[in-house]
Amino acid sequence: MQGWRSALAEVPDPVFAQGMLGAGVAIDPTGDTVHAPCDGVVRALQPTGHAVTIAAAEGAEILIHVGVDTVALGGRGFEPLVAAGDRVSRGDPLIRFDLDLLVREAPSVVTPVLLLESEHYALAALGDANGPVAVGDPLFTLVPRDVAAPAEAADRDGPVVVRELLVPLAHGIHARPAARIRETAARFSAEVTIAKGERSANARSPVALLTLGARLGDAIRIEAHGADAEAAVAAVADLIASGMGEAADPSTPPPAAEPVAAPAPPATLSADGRLAGVTASPGVAIGHARTLHLAEIAVDPVGVGAEEERARLEQALRSLGTKLDAEAVSASGPRRSILAAHRAMLDDAGLRDAALAVIADGGSAGHAWREAIRPQAEALRATGDAHLAERADDMRDLERRVLSLLMGIEDAPIAFPPDTILLAEDLLPSQLMALDPANVVGFCVEKGGPTSHVAILAASMGLPALVATGPALHAIAEGSMLILDADAAVLQVAPEADALAAARDRVAERHARRAEAQANAAAPCHMAGGERIEVFANLGSRADAELAVVNGAEGCGLLRTEFLFLERDTAPSLAEQTAEYQGIADALGGRPVIVRLLDVGGDKPAPYLPIAPEENPALGLRGIRVGFANPQLLDEQIRAILRVQPTGQCRIMIPMIASLDELRQVRTAVDRLRTELGIAEPVEVGVMIETPAAAVTADLLAAEADFLSVGTNDLTQYALAMDRGNPAVAAGIDGLHPAVLRMIAETCRGAARHDRWTGVCGGLASDPLAVPILLGLGVTELSATAALVPEIKALVASLSMDACRAHAAAALQCGSAAEVRTLAREFRA
Ligand code: PEP
Ligand code: MG
Repeated sequence: MQGWRSALAEVPDPVFAQGMLGAGVAIDPTGDTVHAPCDGVVRALQPTGHAVTIAAAEGAEILIHVGVDTVALGGRGFEPLVAAGDRVSRGDPLIRFDLDLLVREAPSVVTPVLLLESEHYALAALGDANGPVAVGDPLFTLVPRDVAAPAEAADRDGPVVVRELLVPLAHGIHARPAARIRETAARFSAEVTIAKGERSANARSPVALLTLGARLGDAIRIEAHGADAEAAVAAVADLIASGMGEAADPSTPPPAAEPVAAPAPPATLSADGRLAGVTASPGVAIGHARTLHLAEIAVDPVGVGAEEERARLEQALRSLGTKLDAEAVSASGPRRSILAAHRAMLDDAGLRDAALAVIADGGSAGHAWREAIRPQAEALRATGDAHLAERADDMRDLERRVLSLLMGIEDAPIAFPPDTILLAEDLLPSQLMALDPANVVGFCVEKGGPTSHVAILAASMGLPALVATGPALHAIAEGSMLILDADAAVLQVAPEADALAAARDRVAERHARRAEAQANAAAPCHMAGGERIEVFANLGSRADAELAVVNGAEGCGLLRTEFLFLERDTAPSLAEQTAEYQGIADALGGRPVIVRLLDVGGDKPAPYLPIAPEENPALGLRGIRVGFANPQLLDEQIRAILRVQPTGQCRIMIPMIASLDELRQVRTAVDRLRTELGIAEPVEVGVMIETPAAAVTADLLAAEADFLSVGTNDLTQYALAMDRGNPAVAAGIDGLHPAVLRMIAETCRGAARHDRWTGVCGGLASDPLAVPILLGLGVTELSATAALVPEIKALVASLSMDACRAHAAAALQCGSAAEVRTLAREFRA
């Protein structure tokens, strides 16, 4: 690339500047084309065209990332000239870009060119430090590490440095800390391992680190071999000991391990043919038992030569990566997030390196992949942590998909006759996605867990499902008639005629209700008497927005912007935020988007916002208080929201308001930033009612706010003094408690006094028992979970305002949440 060359540290992004991804140089471009720096294969070219990775023939990988935060441009200004998998020669043009546009719209055009961190290669010689470069000038020289530094290889057997410490991280070593540990370990040539008990993991493999299942308070042992072992151990230990912004309150006792399975089901069929399981997705289905038998894919353990097997594996990994990307493009909601998770696991360098080591020892590509992935999956299962054990299924899915590609087996949809209730020892996410939903009406699996990706997918497909039935599932004869009652977590084999008739009625009623709701989902929502009620959806991403539109959401009543701010080391830039919000606004096609200002705090930590450990995080620095403590962050987020086109589609909502002053302070900031950006139109600013203080002063807030929206999740925890995350009080924390309902009533009265509307964006808006009461209290906007929007709209359309008012008045007089729920069930009956 033609331009001005400088040190990598000049890139204004710590990920590059601090060498977290590898060593290299920076170029401030004056030309408009990226050329291949060496012969090789295009290993990756971002769909947005802003970055390319070239795998040199010898295996070293070079990343060229044009500018900083240019991903946010969504491909504008970039013209890729090659595609992933293309073979290129040194000097071939790879990407052309519009330099003027990048200079105008990206935070920086300085382009890192670096050798991705590798055990096998090192940067041996860098050319002149600073100065002009032309296309074809040498930038750096790579040498295989064992040639460049023979001493290093020997160092592996050299001095051993060990340090032991207790994990201080509130959530243990999860994905984000694992990624940071990897970054730190990769800066040293020493081989660093972290062990917990008998299990040990290479610190450079985030997946391996996860398999340790290291939780708060666990003793771990950091060990390194090699010349810089001392420094490597110190750096990794200091990083972990620092808490990485997630240190637990020292008085917090370490958590007890979660059981691997939910309540143990009986191991056998009862005498009357009933088998209990755990509900993964609710509903009722009637059908015939069909068993999914999946033979293990056979692979020859012996390879035909390391070079060829390595190339086959690399090719299969690339193909699956491309397939997953393509599937994600056409997927939405949870399906898309699960595909993204699989993509991230596929890219895990630890897995790849483990497989390459088996190949180097003479193994075939298939055998190597299986050998690499199985111990990791088993280790995840062995952690004793239910959530990690469920991720093992995702790893097995990747094993199968890579082996299918290597063996040339077509992954055709799995065909079953109509009315199939699928029985399987286990079901993988990709297998579930490949099932024909017209014929499979539900499924039961012997293993699995209720929070697995398969369970999430089943719920999003509306497919009743049971997991963890135990091995008794094998005793069910093929073709048997079954009632799968996932609501009651029971599978009935060969039911009596009357039970079958009753189940048929339930299935028919459910189908009719759902079909009607879905058919009418697009219509504007009115009550039976014509009163307009807006039914919006709560969103956290663009994929959610697409799902919401399909389900008839009339807007977004709560955009949880935290998704952009958490699980990362630096705050998102203005360009990144603007692009995300604009994408969501575009997906909603002109419908209103209520963007909540950042709501993080002690319970949702962001490492770049160091919030000191608090004795009571729920009563500490969270919600808008974090914004006031970090005014630049707040201003930047407001700017990003204001920049979304058309102006006014996005409204601003303030979380955790406790007093009118806070609203005034945000309004002043919004007006100042509007002036700065030359925006003449007013932009609506509303408040969340989540504290009792806000509820009882709703009239004061409504005098100056454009709207009020009740966050019933927090309002309930603060009204009842019950921590929403504490299982010891979980049974009592119910938003239908009369105290909470009275606060909602007070909020609606206060808003009405100033002609403002009141909405609900907490969990009560998605609860069919609560909806009639909320409408009766005066709520006119409900923001629900996207998948439930059709049912909530249908329910609202069936209700009369008079009946809801009388019902709400009765609810306010109840003595407990349980009493309100009984009343609400009678009202619906
Ligand atoms: C609420 O508190 O009800 C709410 C909607 O906000 P969150 O659940 O994100 O805290
Ligand atoms: Mg809240």
